Amino acid sequence: MIYKTDIKSLLFSEVEQLIREMGLPAFRAKQIFSWLHEKQVTSFDEMTNLSKDFREKLNDSCTIAALTPVEILTSKLDGTQKYLFRLADGNVIESVLMKYHHGNTVCISTQVGCRMGCKFCASTLDGMERNLTASEMLEEVYRIQHISHERVSNVVLMGSGEPLDNYENVMRFLDLITEERGQNLSARNITLSTCGLVPEICRLAQERRQITLAISLHAADDKTRQELMPIARKYSIQEILQACDDYFEKTGRRISFEYSLVAGVNDNREEAEKLAELLRGRNCHVNLIPVNPIKERDLKRSDRKSVETFREVLEQRGVNATIRREMGSDINGACGQLRKSYKESTDTKEEGEE
Ligand code: SAH
Repeated sequence: MIYKTDIKSLLFSEVEQLIREMGLPAFRAKQIFSWLHEKQVTSFDEMTNLSKDFREKLNDSCTIAALTPVEILTSKLDGTQKYLFRLADGNVIESVLMKYHHGNTVCISTQVGCRMGCKFCASTLDGMERNLTASEMLEEVYRIQHISHERVSNVVLMGSGEPLDNYENVMRFLDLITEERGQNLSARNITLSTCGLVPEICRLAQERRQITLAISLHAADDKTRQELMPIARKYSIQEILQACDDYFEKTGRRISFEYSLVAGVNDNREEAEKLAELLRGRNCHVNLIPVNPIKERDLKRSDRKSVETFREVLEQRGVNATIRREMGSDINGACGQLRKSYKESTDTKEEGEE
């Protein structure tokens, strides 16, 4: 098989270089980049201001990543949409469109599956298949804009996968989605959520991007955290907090902490007090998420009262905290559940066909 360039993953300067190598005038790079990232076409044939000859040449040496929608679920409650997309290699991923007053937000996946193994999460049940390319991540945003006819102003990297476990491609995605010749999204409107890979957080801090860093903490002590998240055996909460301080120092960006509340595991008053103790004095925000139970694990959601109490304890101790508003609860399925149920239904079909 001839190796073709994934042209939508190329930075503008790389498209320029490609065009130069093809012996064509540099201004063509601008046109191509605009077709790919502003008009978001999925074939070279649509690039009508390029000659047929040139389009064929490009087609011979490059591919344009495109996602195919397999299923779209729309919430009757708030218009939230869950998209199941097929990638060129047949893998499926999911993305979500949420409509908030402050603008439309797309939640993207960064890997096919995940290898972090968090107990409450559906995305990791079958492990990780592969990293997504920058172009595939961009396509999650581009296809949703096209299908929904909505302009997307915010992106959160909170779908399936661990973004910092796919570091290079995720940075490339960030470069491209904030590129002024493309979508020109503000870095401040992007949130990257991580389970806490300490060296990569420090590496990210060095880049001094203006994105918001969200840390999936989910516990106030290492022992409880280890019960929920295998990564906690590698990095302690203290190490994570130090990396967060470093991030704040270098970027000036307030850190978000996510805390999924699991009944009887991490949701009592003492846990809230411990968390407040840990975070007091830090410029941060805590997002409380009553856990969305998955059928494969015996974890229960905290009741409303425990969630409220947890929030109050934090607030009383000077730690900003909000309870995450549940979006699209009628089409629910936490992170990775749609993909999981789709995979199960197609696997069963295949087995039945034998
Ligand atoms: N790997 C990244 C981003 C993906 S998940 C991370 O760990 O941050 C986005 C957030 O949803 C994380 O805080 C994750 O822990 C949480 N999450 C995943 N499944 C959940 C569930 N079933 N209920 C509540 N929160 C969940």
